[in-house]
Amino acid sequence: MVDIRGRTLRTCRRLMVPLLTLALTLIQTAPALALRVSASYWRTPQEKILLYWIDTSSFPDAAQLAQLRANLEKAADGWENICTECGIRFIEVHNQGDATFRVAGVNVQRAYLADGFNPSDPKDKWVLKIDRSYFSPQGRFDKVGILRHELGHILGYRHEHIMASDDRLVTCGWKTERNTGPAAVIALTDYDTSSLMHYPCGLEGDHIQFDFSPLDIEGHRRLYGPAPEVTTPQSPPRETQQPQ
Ligand SMILES: [Zn+2]
Repeated sequence: MVDIRGRTLRTCRRLMVPLLTLALTLIQTAPALALRVSASYWRTPQEKILLYWIDTSSFPDAAQLAQLRANLEKAADGWENICTECGIRFIEVHNQGDATFRVAGVNVQRAYLADGFNPSDPKDKWVLKIDRSYFSPQGRFDKVGILRHELGHILGYRHEHIMASDDRLVTCGWKTERNTGPAAVIALTDYDTSSLMHYPCGLEGDHIQFDFSPLDIEGHRRLYGPAPEVTTPQSPPRETQQPQ
């Protein structure tokens, strides 16, 4: 599920006619290419290298900082490894001025464990926030998995469970998540309860991994993978006179 709110949506409105025309043409020849035109955020090889700067002073505990740094690297490796050809990289930098986004420790008292951002947010909101509760040894969520999920948001992916049935949205407490119209998201795959962007319902599950499902990998490759080859219809082979 890719987020197309905010900046991109406004851009789409301005470019509605040319985009629609382009989209119609492309949908017939290369649906995945049409998708990139309308939905991906990080497009150029440079944009796909996402540089992050960790605000070390916001993590008062050195051991926790080291744990966060190592887990973030593993989460980044996960996204890179599911599609090496996609060109998506997350690299730590040591100068804030060089960074695409910032990683900061916060104390929101368990309001969330970690909170990424969507690339449609204003740039001053491009912060991956880590609550103190993230480091709790009793957590039921895998600590690398939490960061994998948050990096998913940073790549533009919305929560998969916003596509759950109305009943389940109410039962599981996700109703307020479905706060955008269908025009604001594009489904990259069928609804997938195994997605790393899908929350468990209530207390279901003991150790939630937030690992990639096969459909996560397929959807990610559709959006960021190598550009599909546009094949032009071949003219039928001409009959040639063979020498006798
Ligand atoms: Zn999330």
